[in-house]
Amino acid sequence: MAKKIVRDLNVDGKKVLIRVDFNVPMKNGVITDDNRIVQALPTIQDVVSRNAKVILFSHLGRVKTEEDKASKSLAPVAKALEEKLGQPVRFVPFTRGPELEAAINEMKNGEVLMFENTRFEDVDGKKESKNDPELGKYWASLGDVFVNDAFGTAHRAHASNVGIASNIEEVAAGYLLEKEIKFIGGVVEAPERPFVAILGGAKVGDKIGVIENLLKVADKILIGGGMSYTFFKQQGYEIGTSICEDDKLDLAKELLEKSNGKLVLPVDLKVTKEFSNDSEIRIAAFDDIQPDEMGLDAGPKTLELYKTFLKNAKTVVWNGPVGVFEFSNFAGGTIGVCEALANLEDCTTIIGGGDSAAAAIQLGFADKFTHISTGGGASLEYLEGKVLPGVACIDEL
Ligand code: ADP
Ligand code: MG
Repeated sequence: MAKKIVRDLNVDGKKVLIRVDFNVPMKNGVITDDNRIVQALPTIQDVVSRNAKVILFSHLGRVKTEEDKASKSLAPVAKALEEKLGQPVRFVPFTRGPELEAAINEMKNGEVLMFENTRFEDVDGKKESKNDPELGKYWASLGDVFVNDAFGTAHRAHASNVGIASNIEEVAAGYLLEKEIKFIGGVVEAPERPFVAILGGAKVGDKIGVIENLLKVADKILIGGGMSYTFFKQQGYEIGTSICEDDKLDLAKELLEKSNGKLVLPVDLKVTKEFSNDSEIRIAAFDDIQPDEMGLDAGPKTLELYKTFLKNAKTVVWNGPVGVFEFSNFAGGTIGVCEALANLEDCTTIIGGGDSAAAAIQLGFADKFTHISTGGGASLEYLEGKVLPGVACIDEL
């Protein structure tokens, strides 16, 4: 069903509460990657330009004790936002109380205010993360309408998303969340076919829900990375010292049985004797791994095989690197997947999953995909077919 988007809201002269995802990586108080701030700009700029009072808030990391607060303040983020936005951002170092309320009352149309890390409320009884009803109601009382643009926490029902939404007149998605709903939500609901999924990563155990759900909607699932070896071992092949989950062998069997030929396993691998970048590499067929070898990347024939399925695809979703891409000598498979997807014409290419997104960006393919999800855990749960509370709480059109 279609969701209300921020463009559908009349915001003129209103106090607009916007839940953004400013959970940026920081080192010694310095922001090391400002992508999340950049991604939030379209929504903020649109609402500012339409003469509203913009009240921003986000979580940053986890806050368990009073001591955590010092390193988890959003003050540096407000500064960075100010630069990007080219207008003042008034930062209020509280999550509630008279100072915050007074600051909001003083706002003029077109102004931007940001308050402190929502998880400061977790120190006293996890009020934010457990969606304390009083807190959601209080935050809702600070504004007239609510825009959720934080996909990273959409798989959680917190006071700063679901709590506010259940206590306010109107709720819309921001433009970033709109993209996630369109692309990640779109692939599980109504993908254009052929729809091919590439699933890699370290463990089958992490991806059971994704495989099971995609078996229902995808036309092919190309398996790669560490999870392949659990499937190989289940079929009786030698996997040497490759990563394997012995407690998931039955599950692998079950998935293969119900896959109806949809699951495609690698045919060759880059194997080596030590888990190290500099260890000597051999290309081995999947049935020729020696007892002292481990597979750390996809081989060239596997990439060719993947390409035969990708060639005509209209939708591709990729979750999980197909090798240990952190080692440059075992990044080739993951680079190959990036290249293959970058070269597809007339195909919607989507990355869901934290490490896959990081790999694509780090390897220089950031602008080659139709959509790279901004939420690791949230995109996984979305691909599993779960209802995300942070999406469900948005008004239907
Ligand atoms: P995502 O975050 O995209 O969902 P995962 O967290 O499931 O991805 O998996 C990422 C990790 O999988 C990477 O750290 C990578 O090194 C690891 N990996 C991929 N292939 C292998 C392999 N053959 N052996 C061990 N680890 C692997
Ligand atoms: Mg991961």
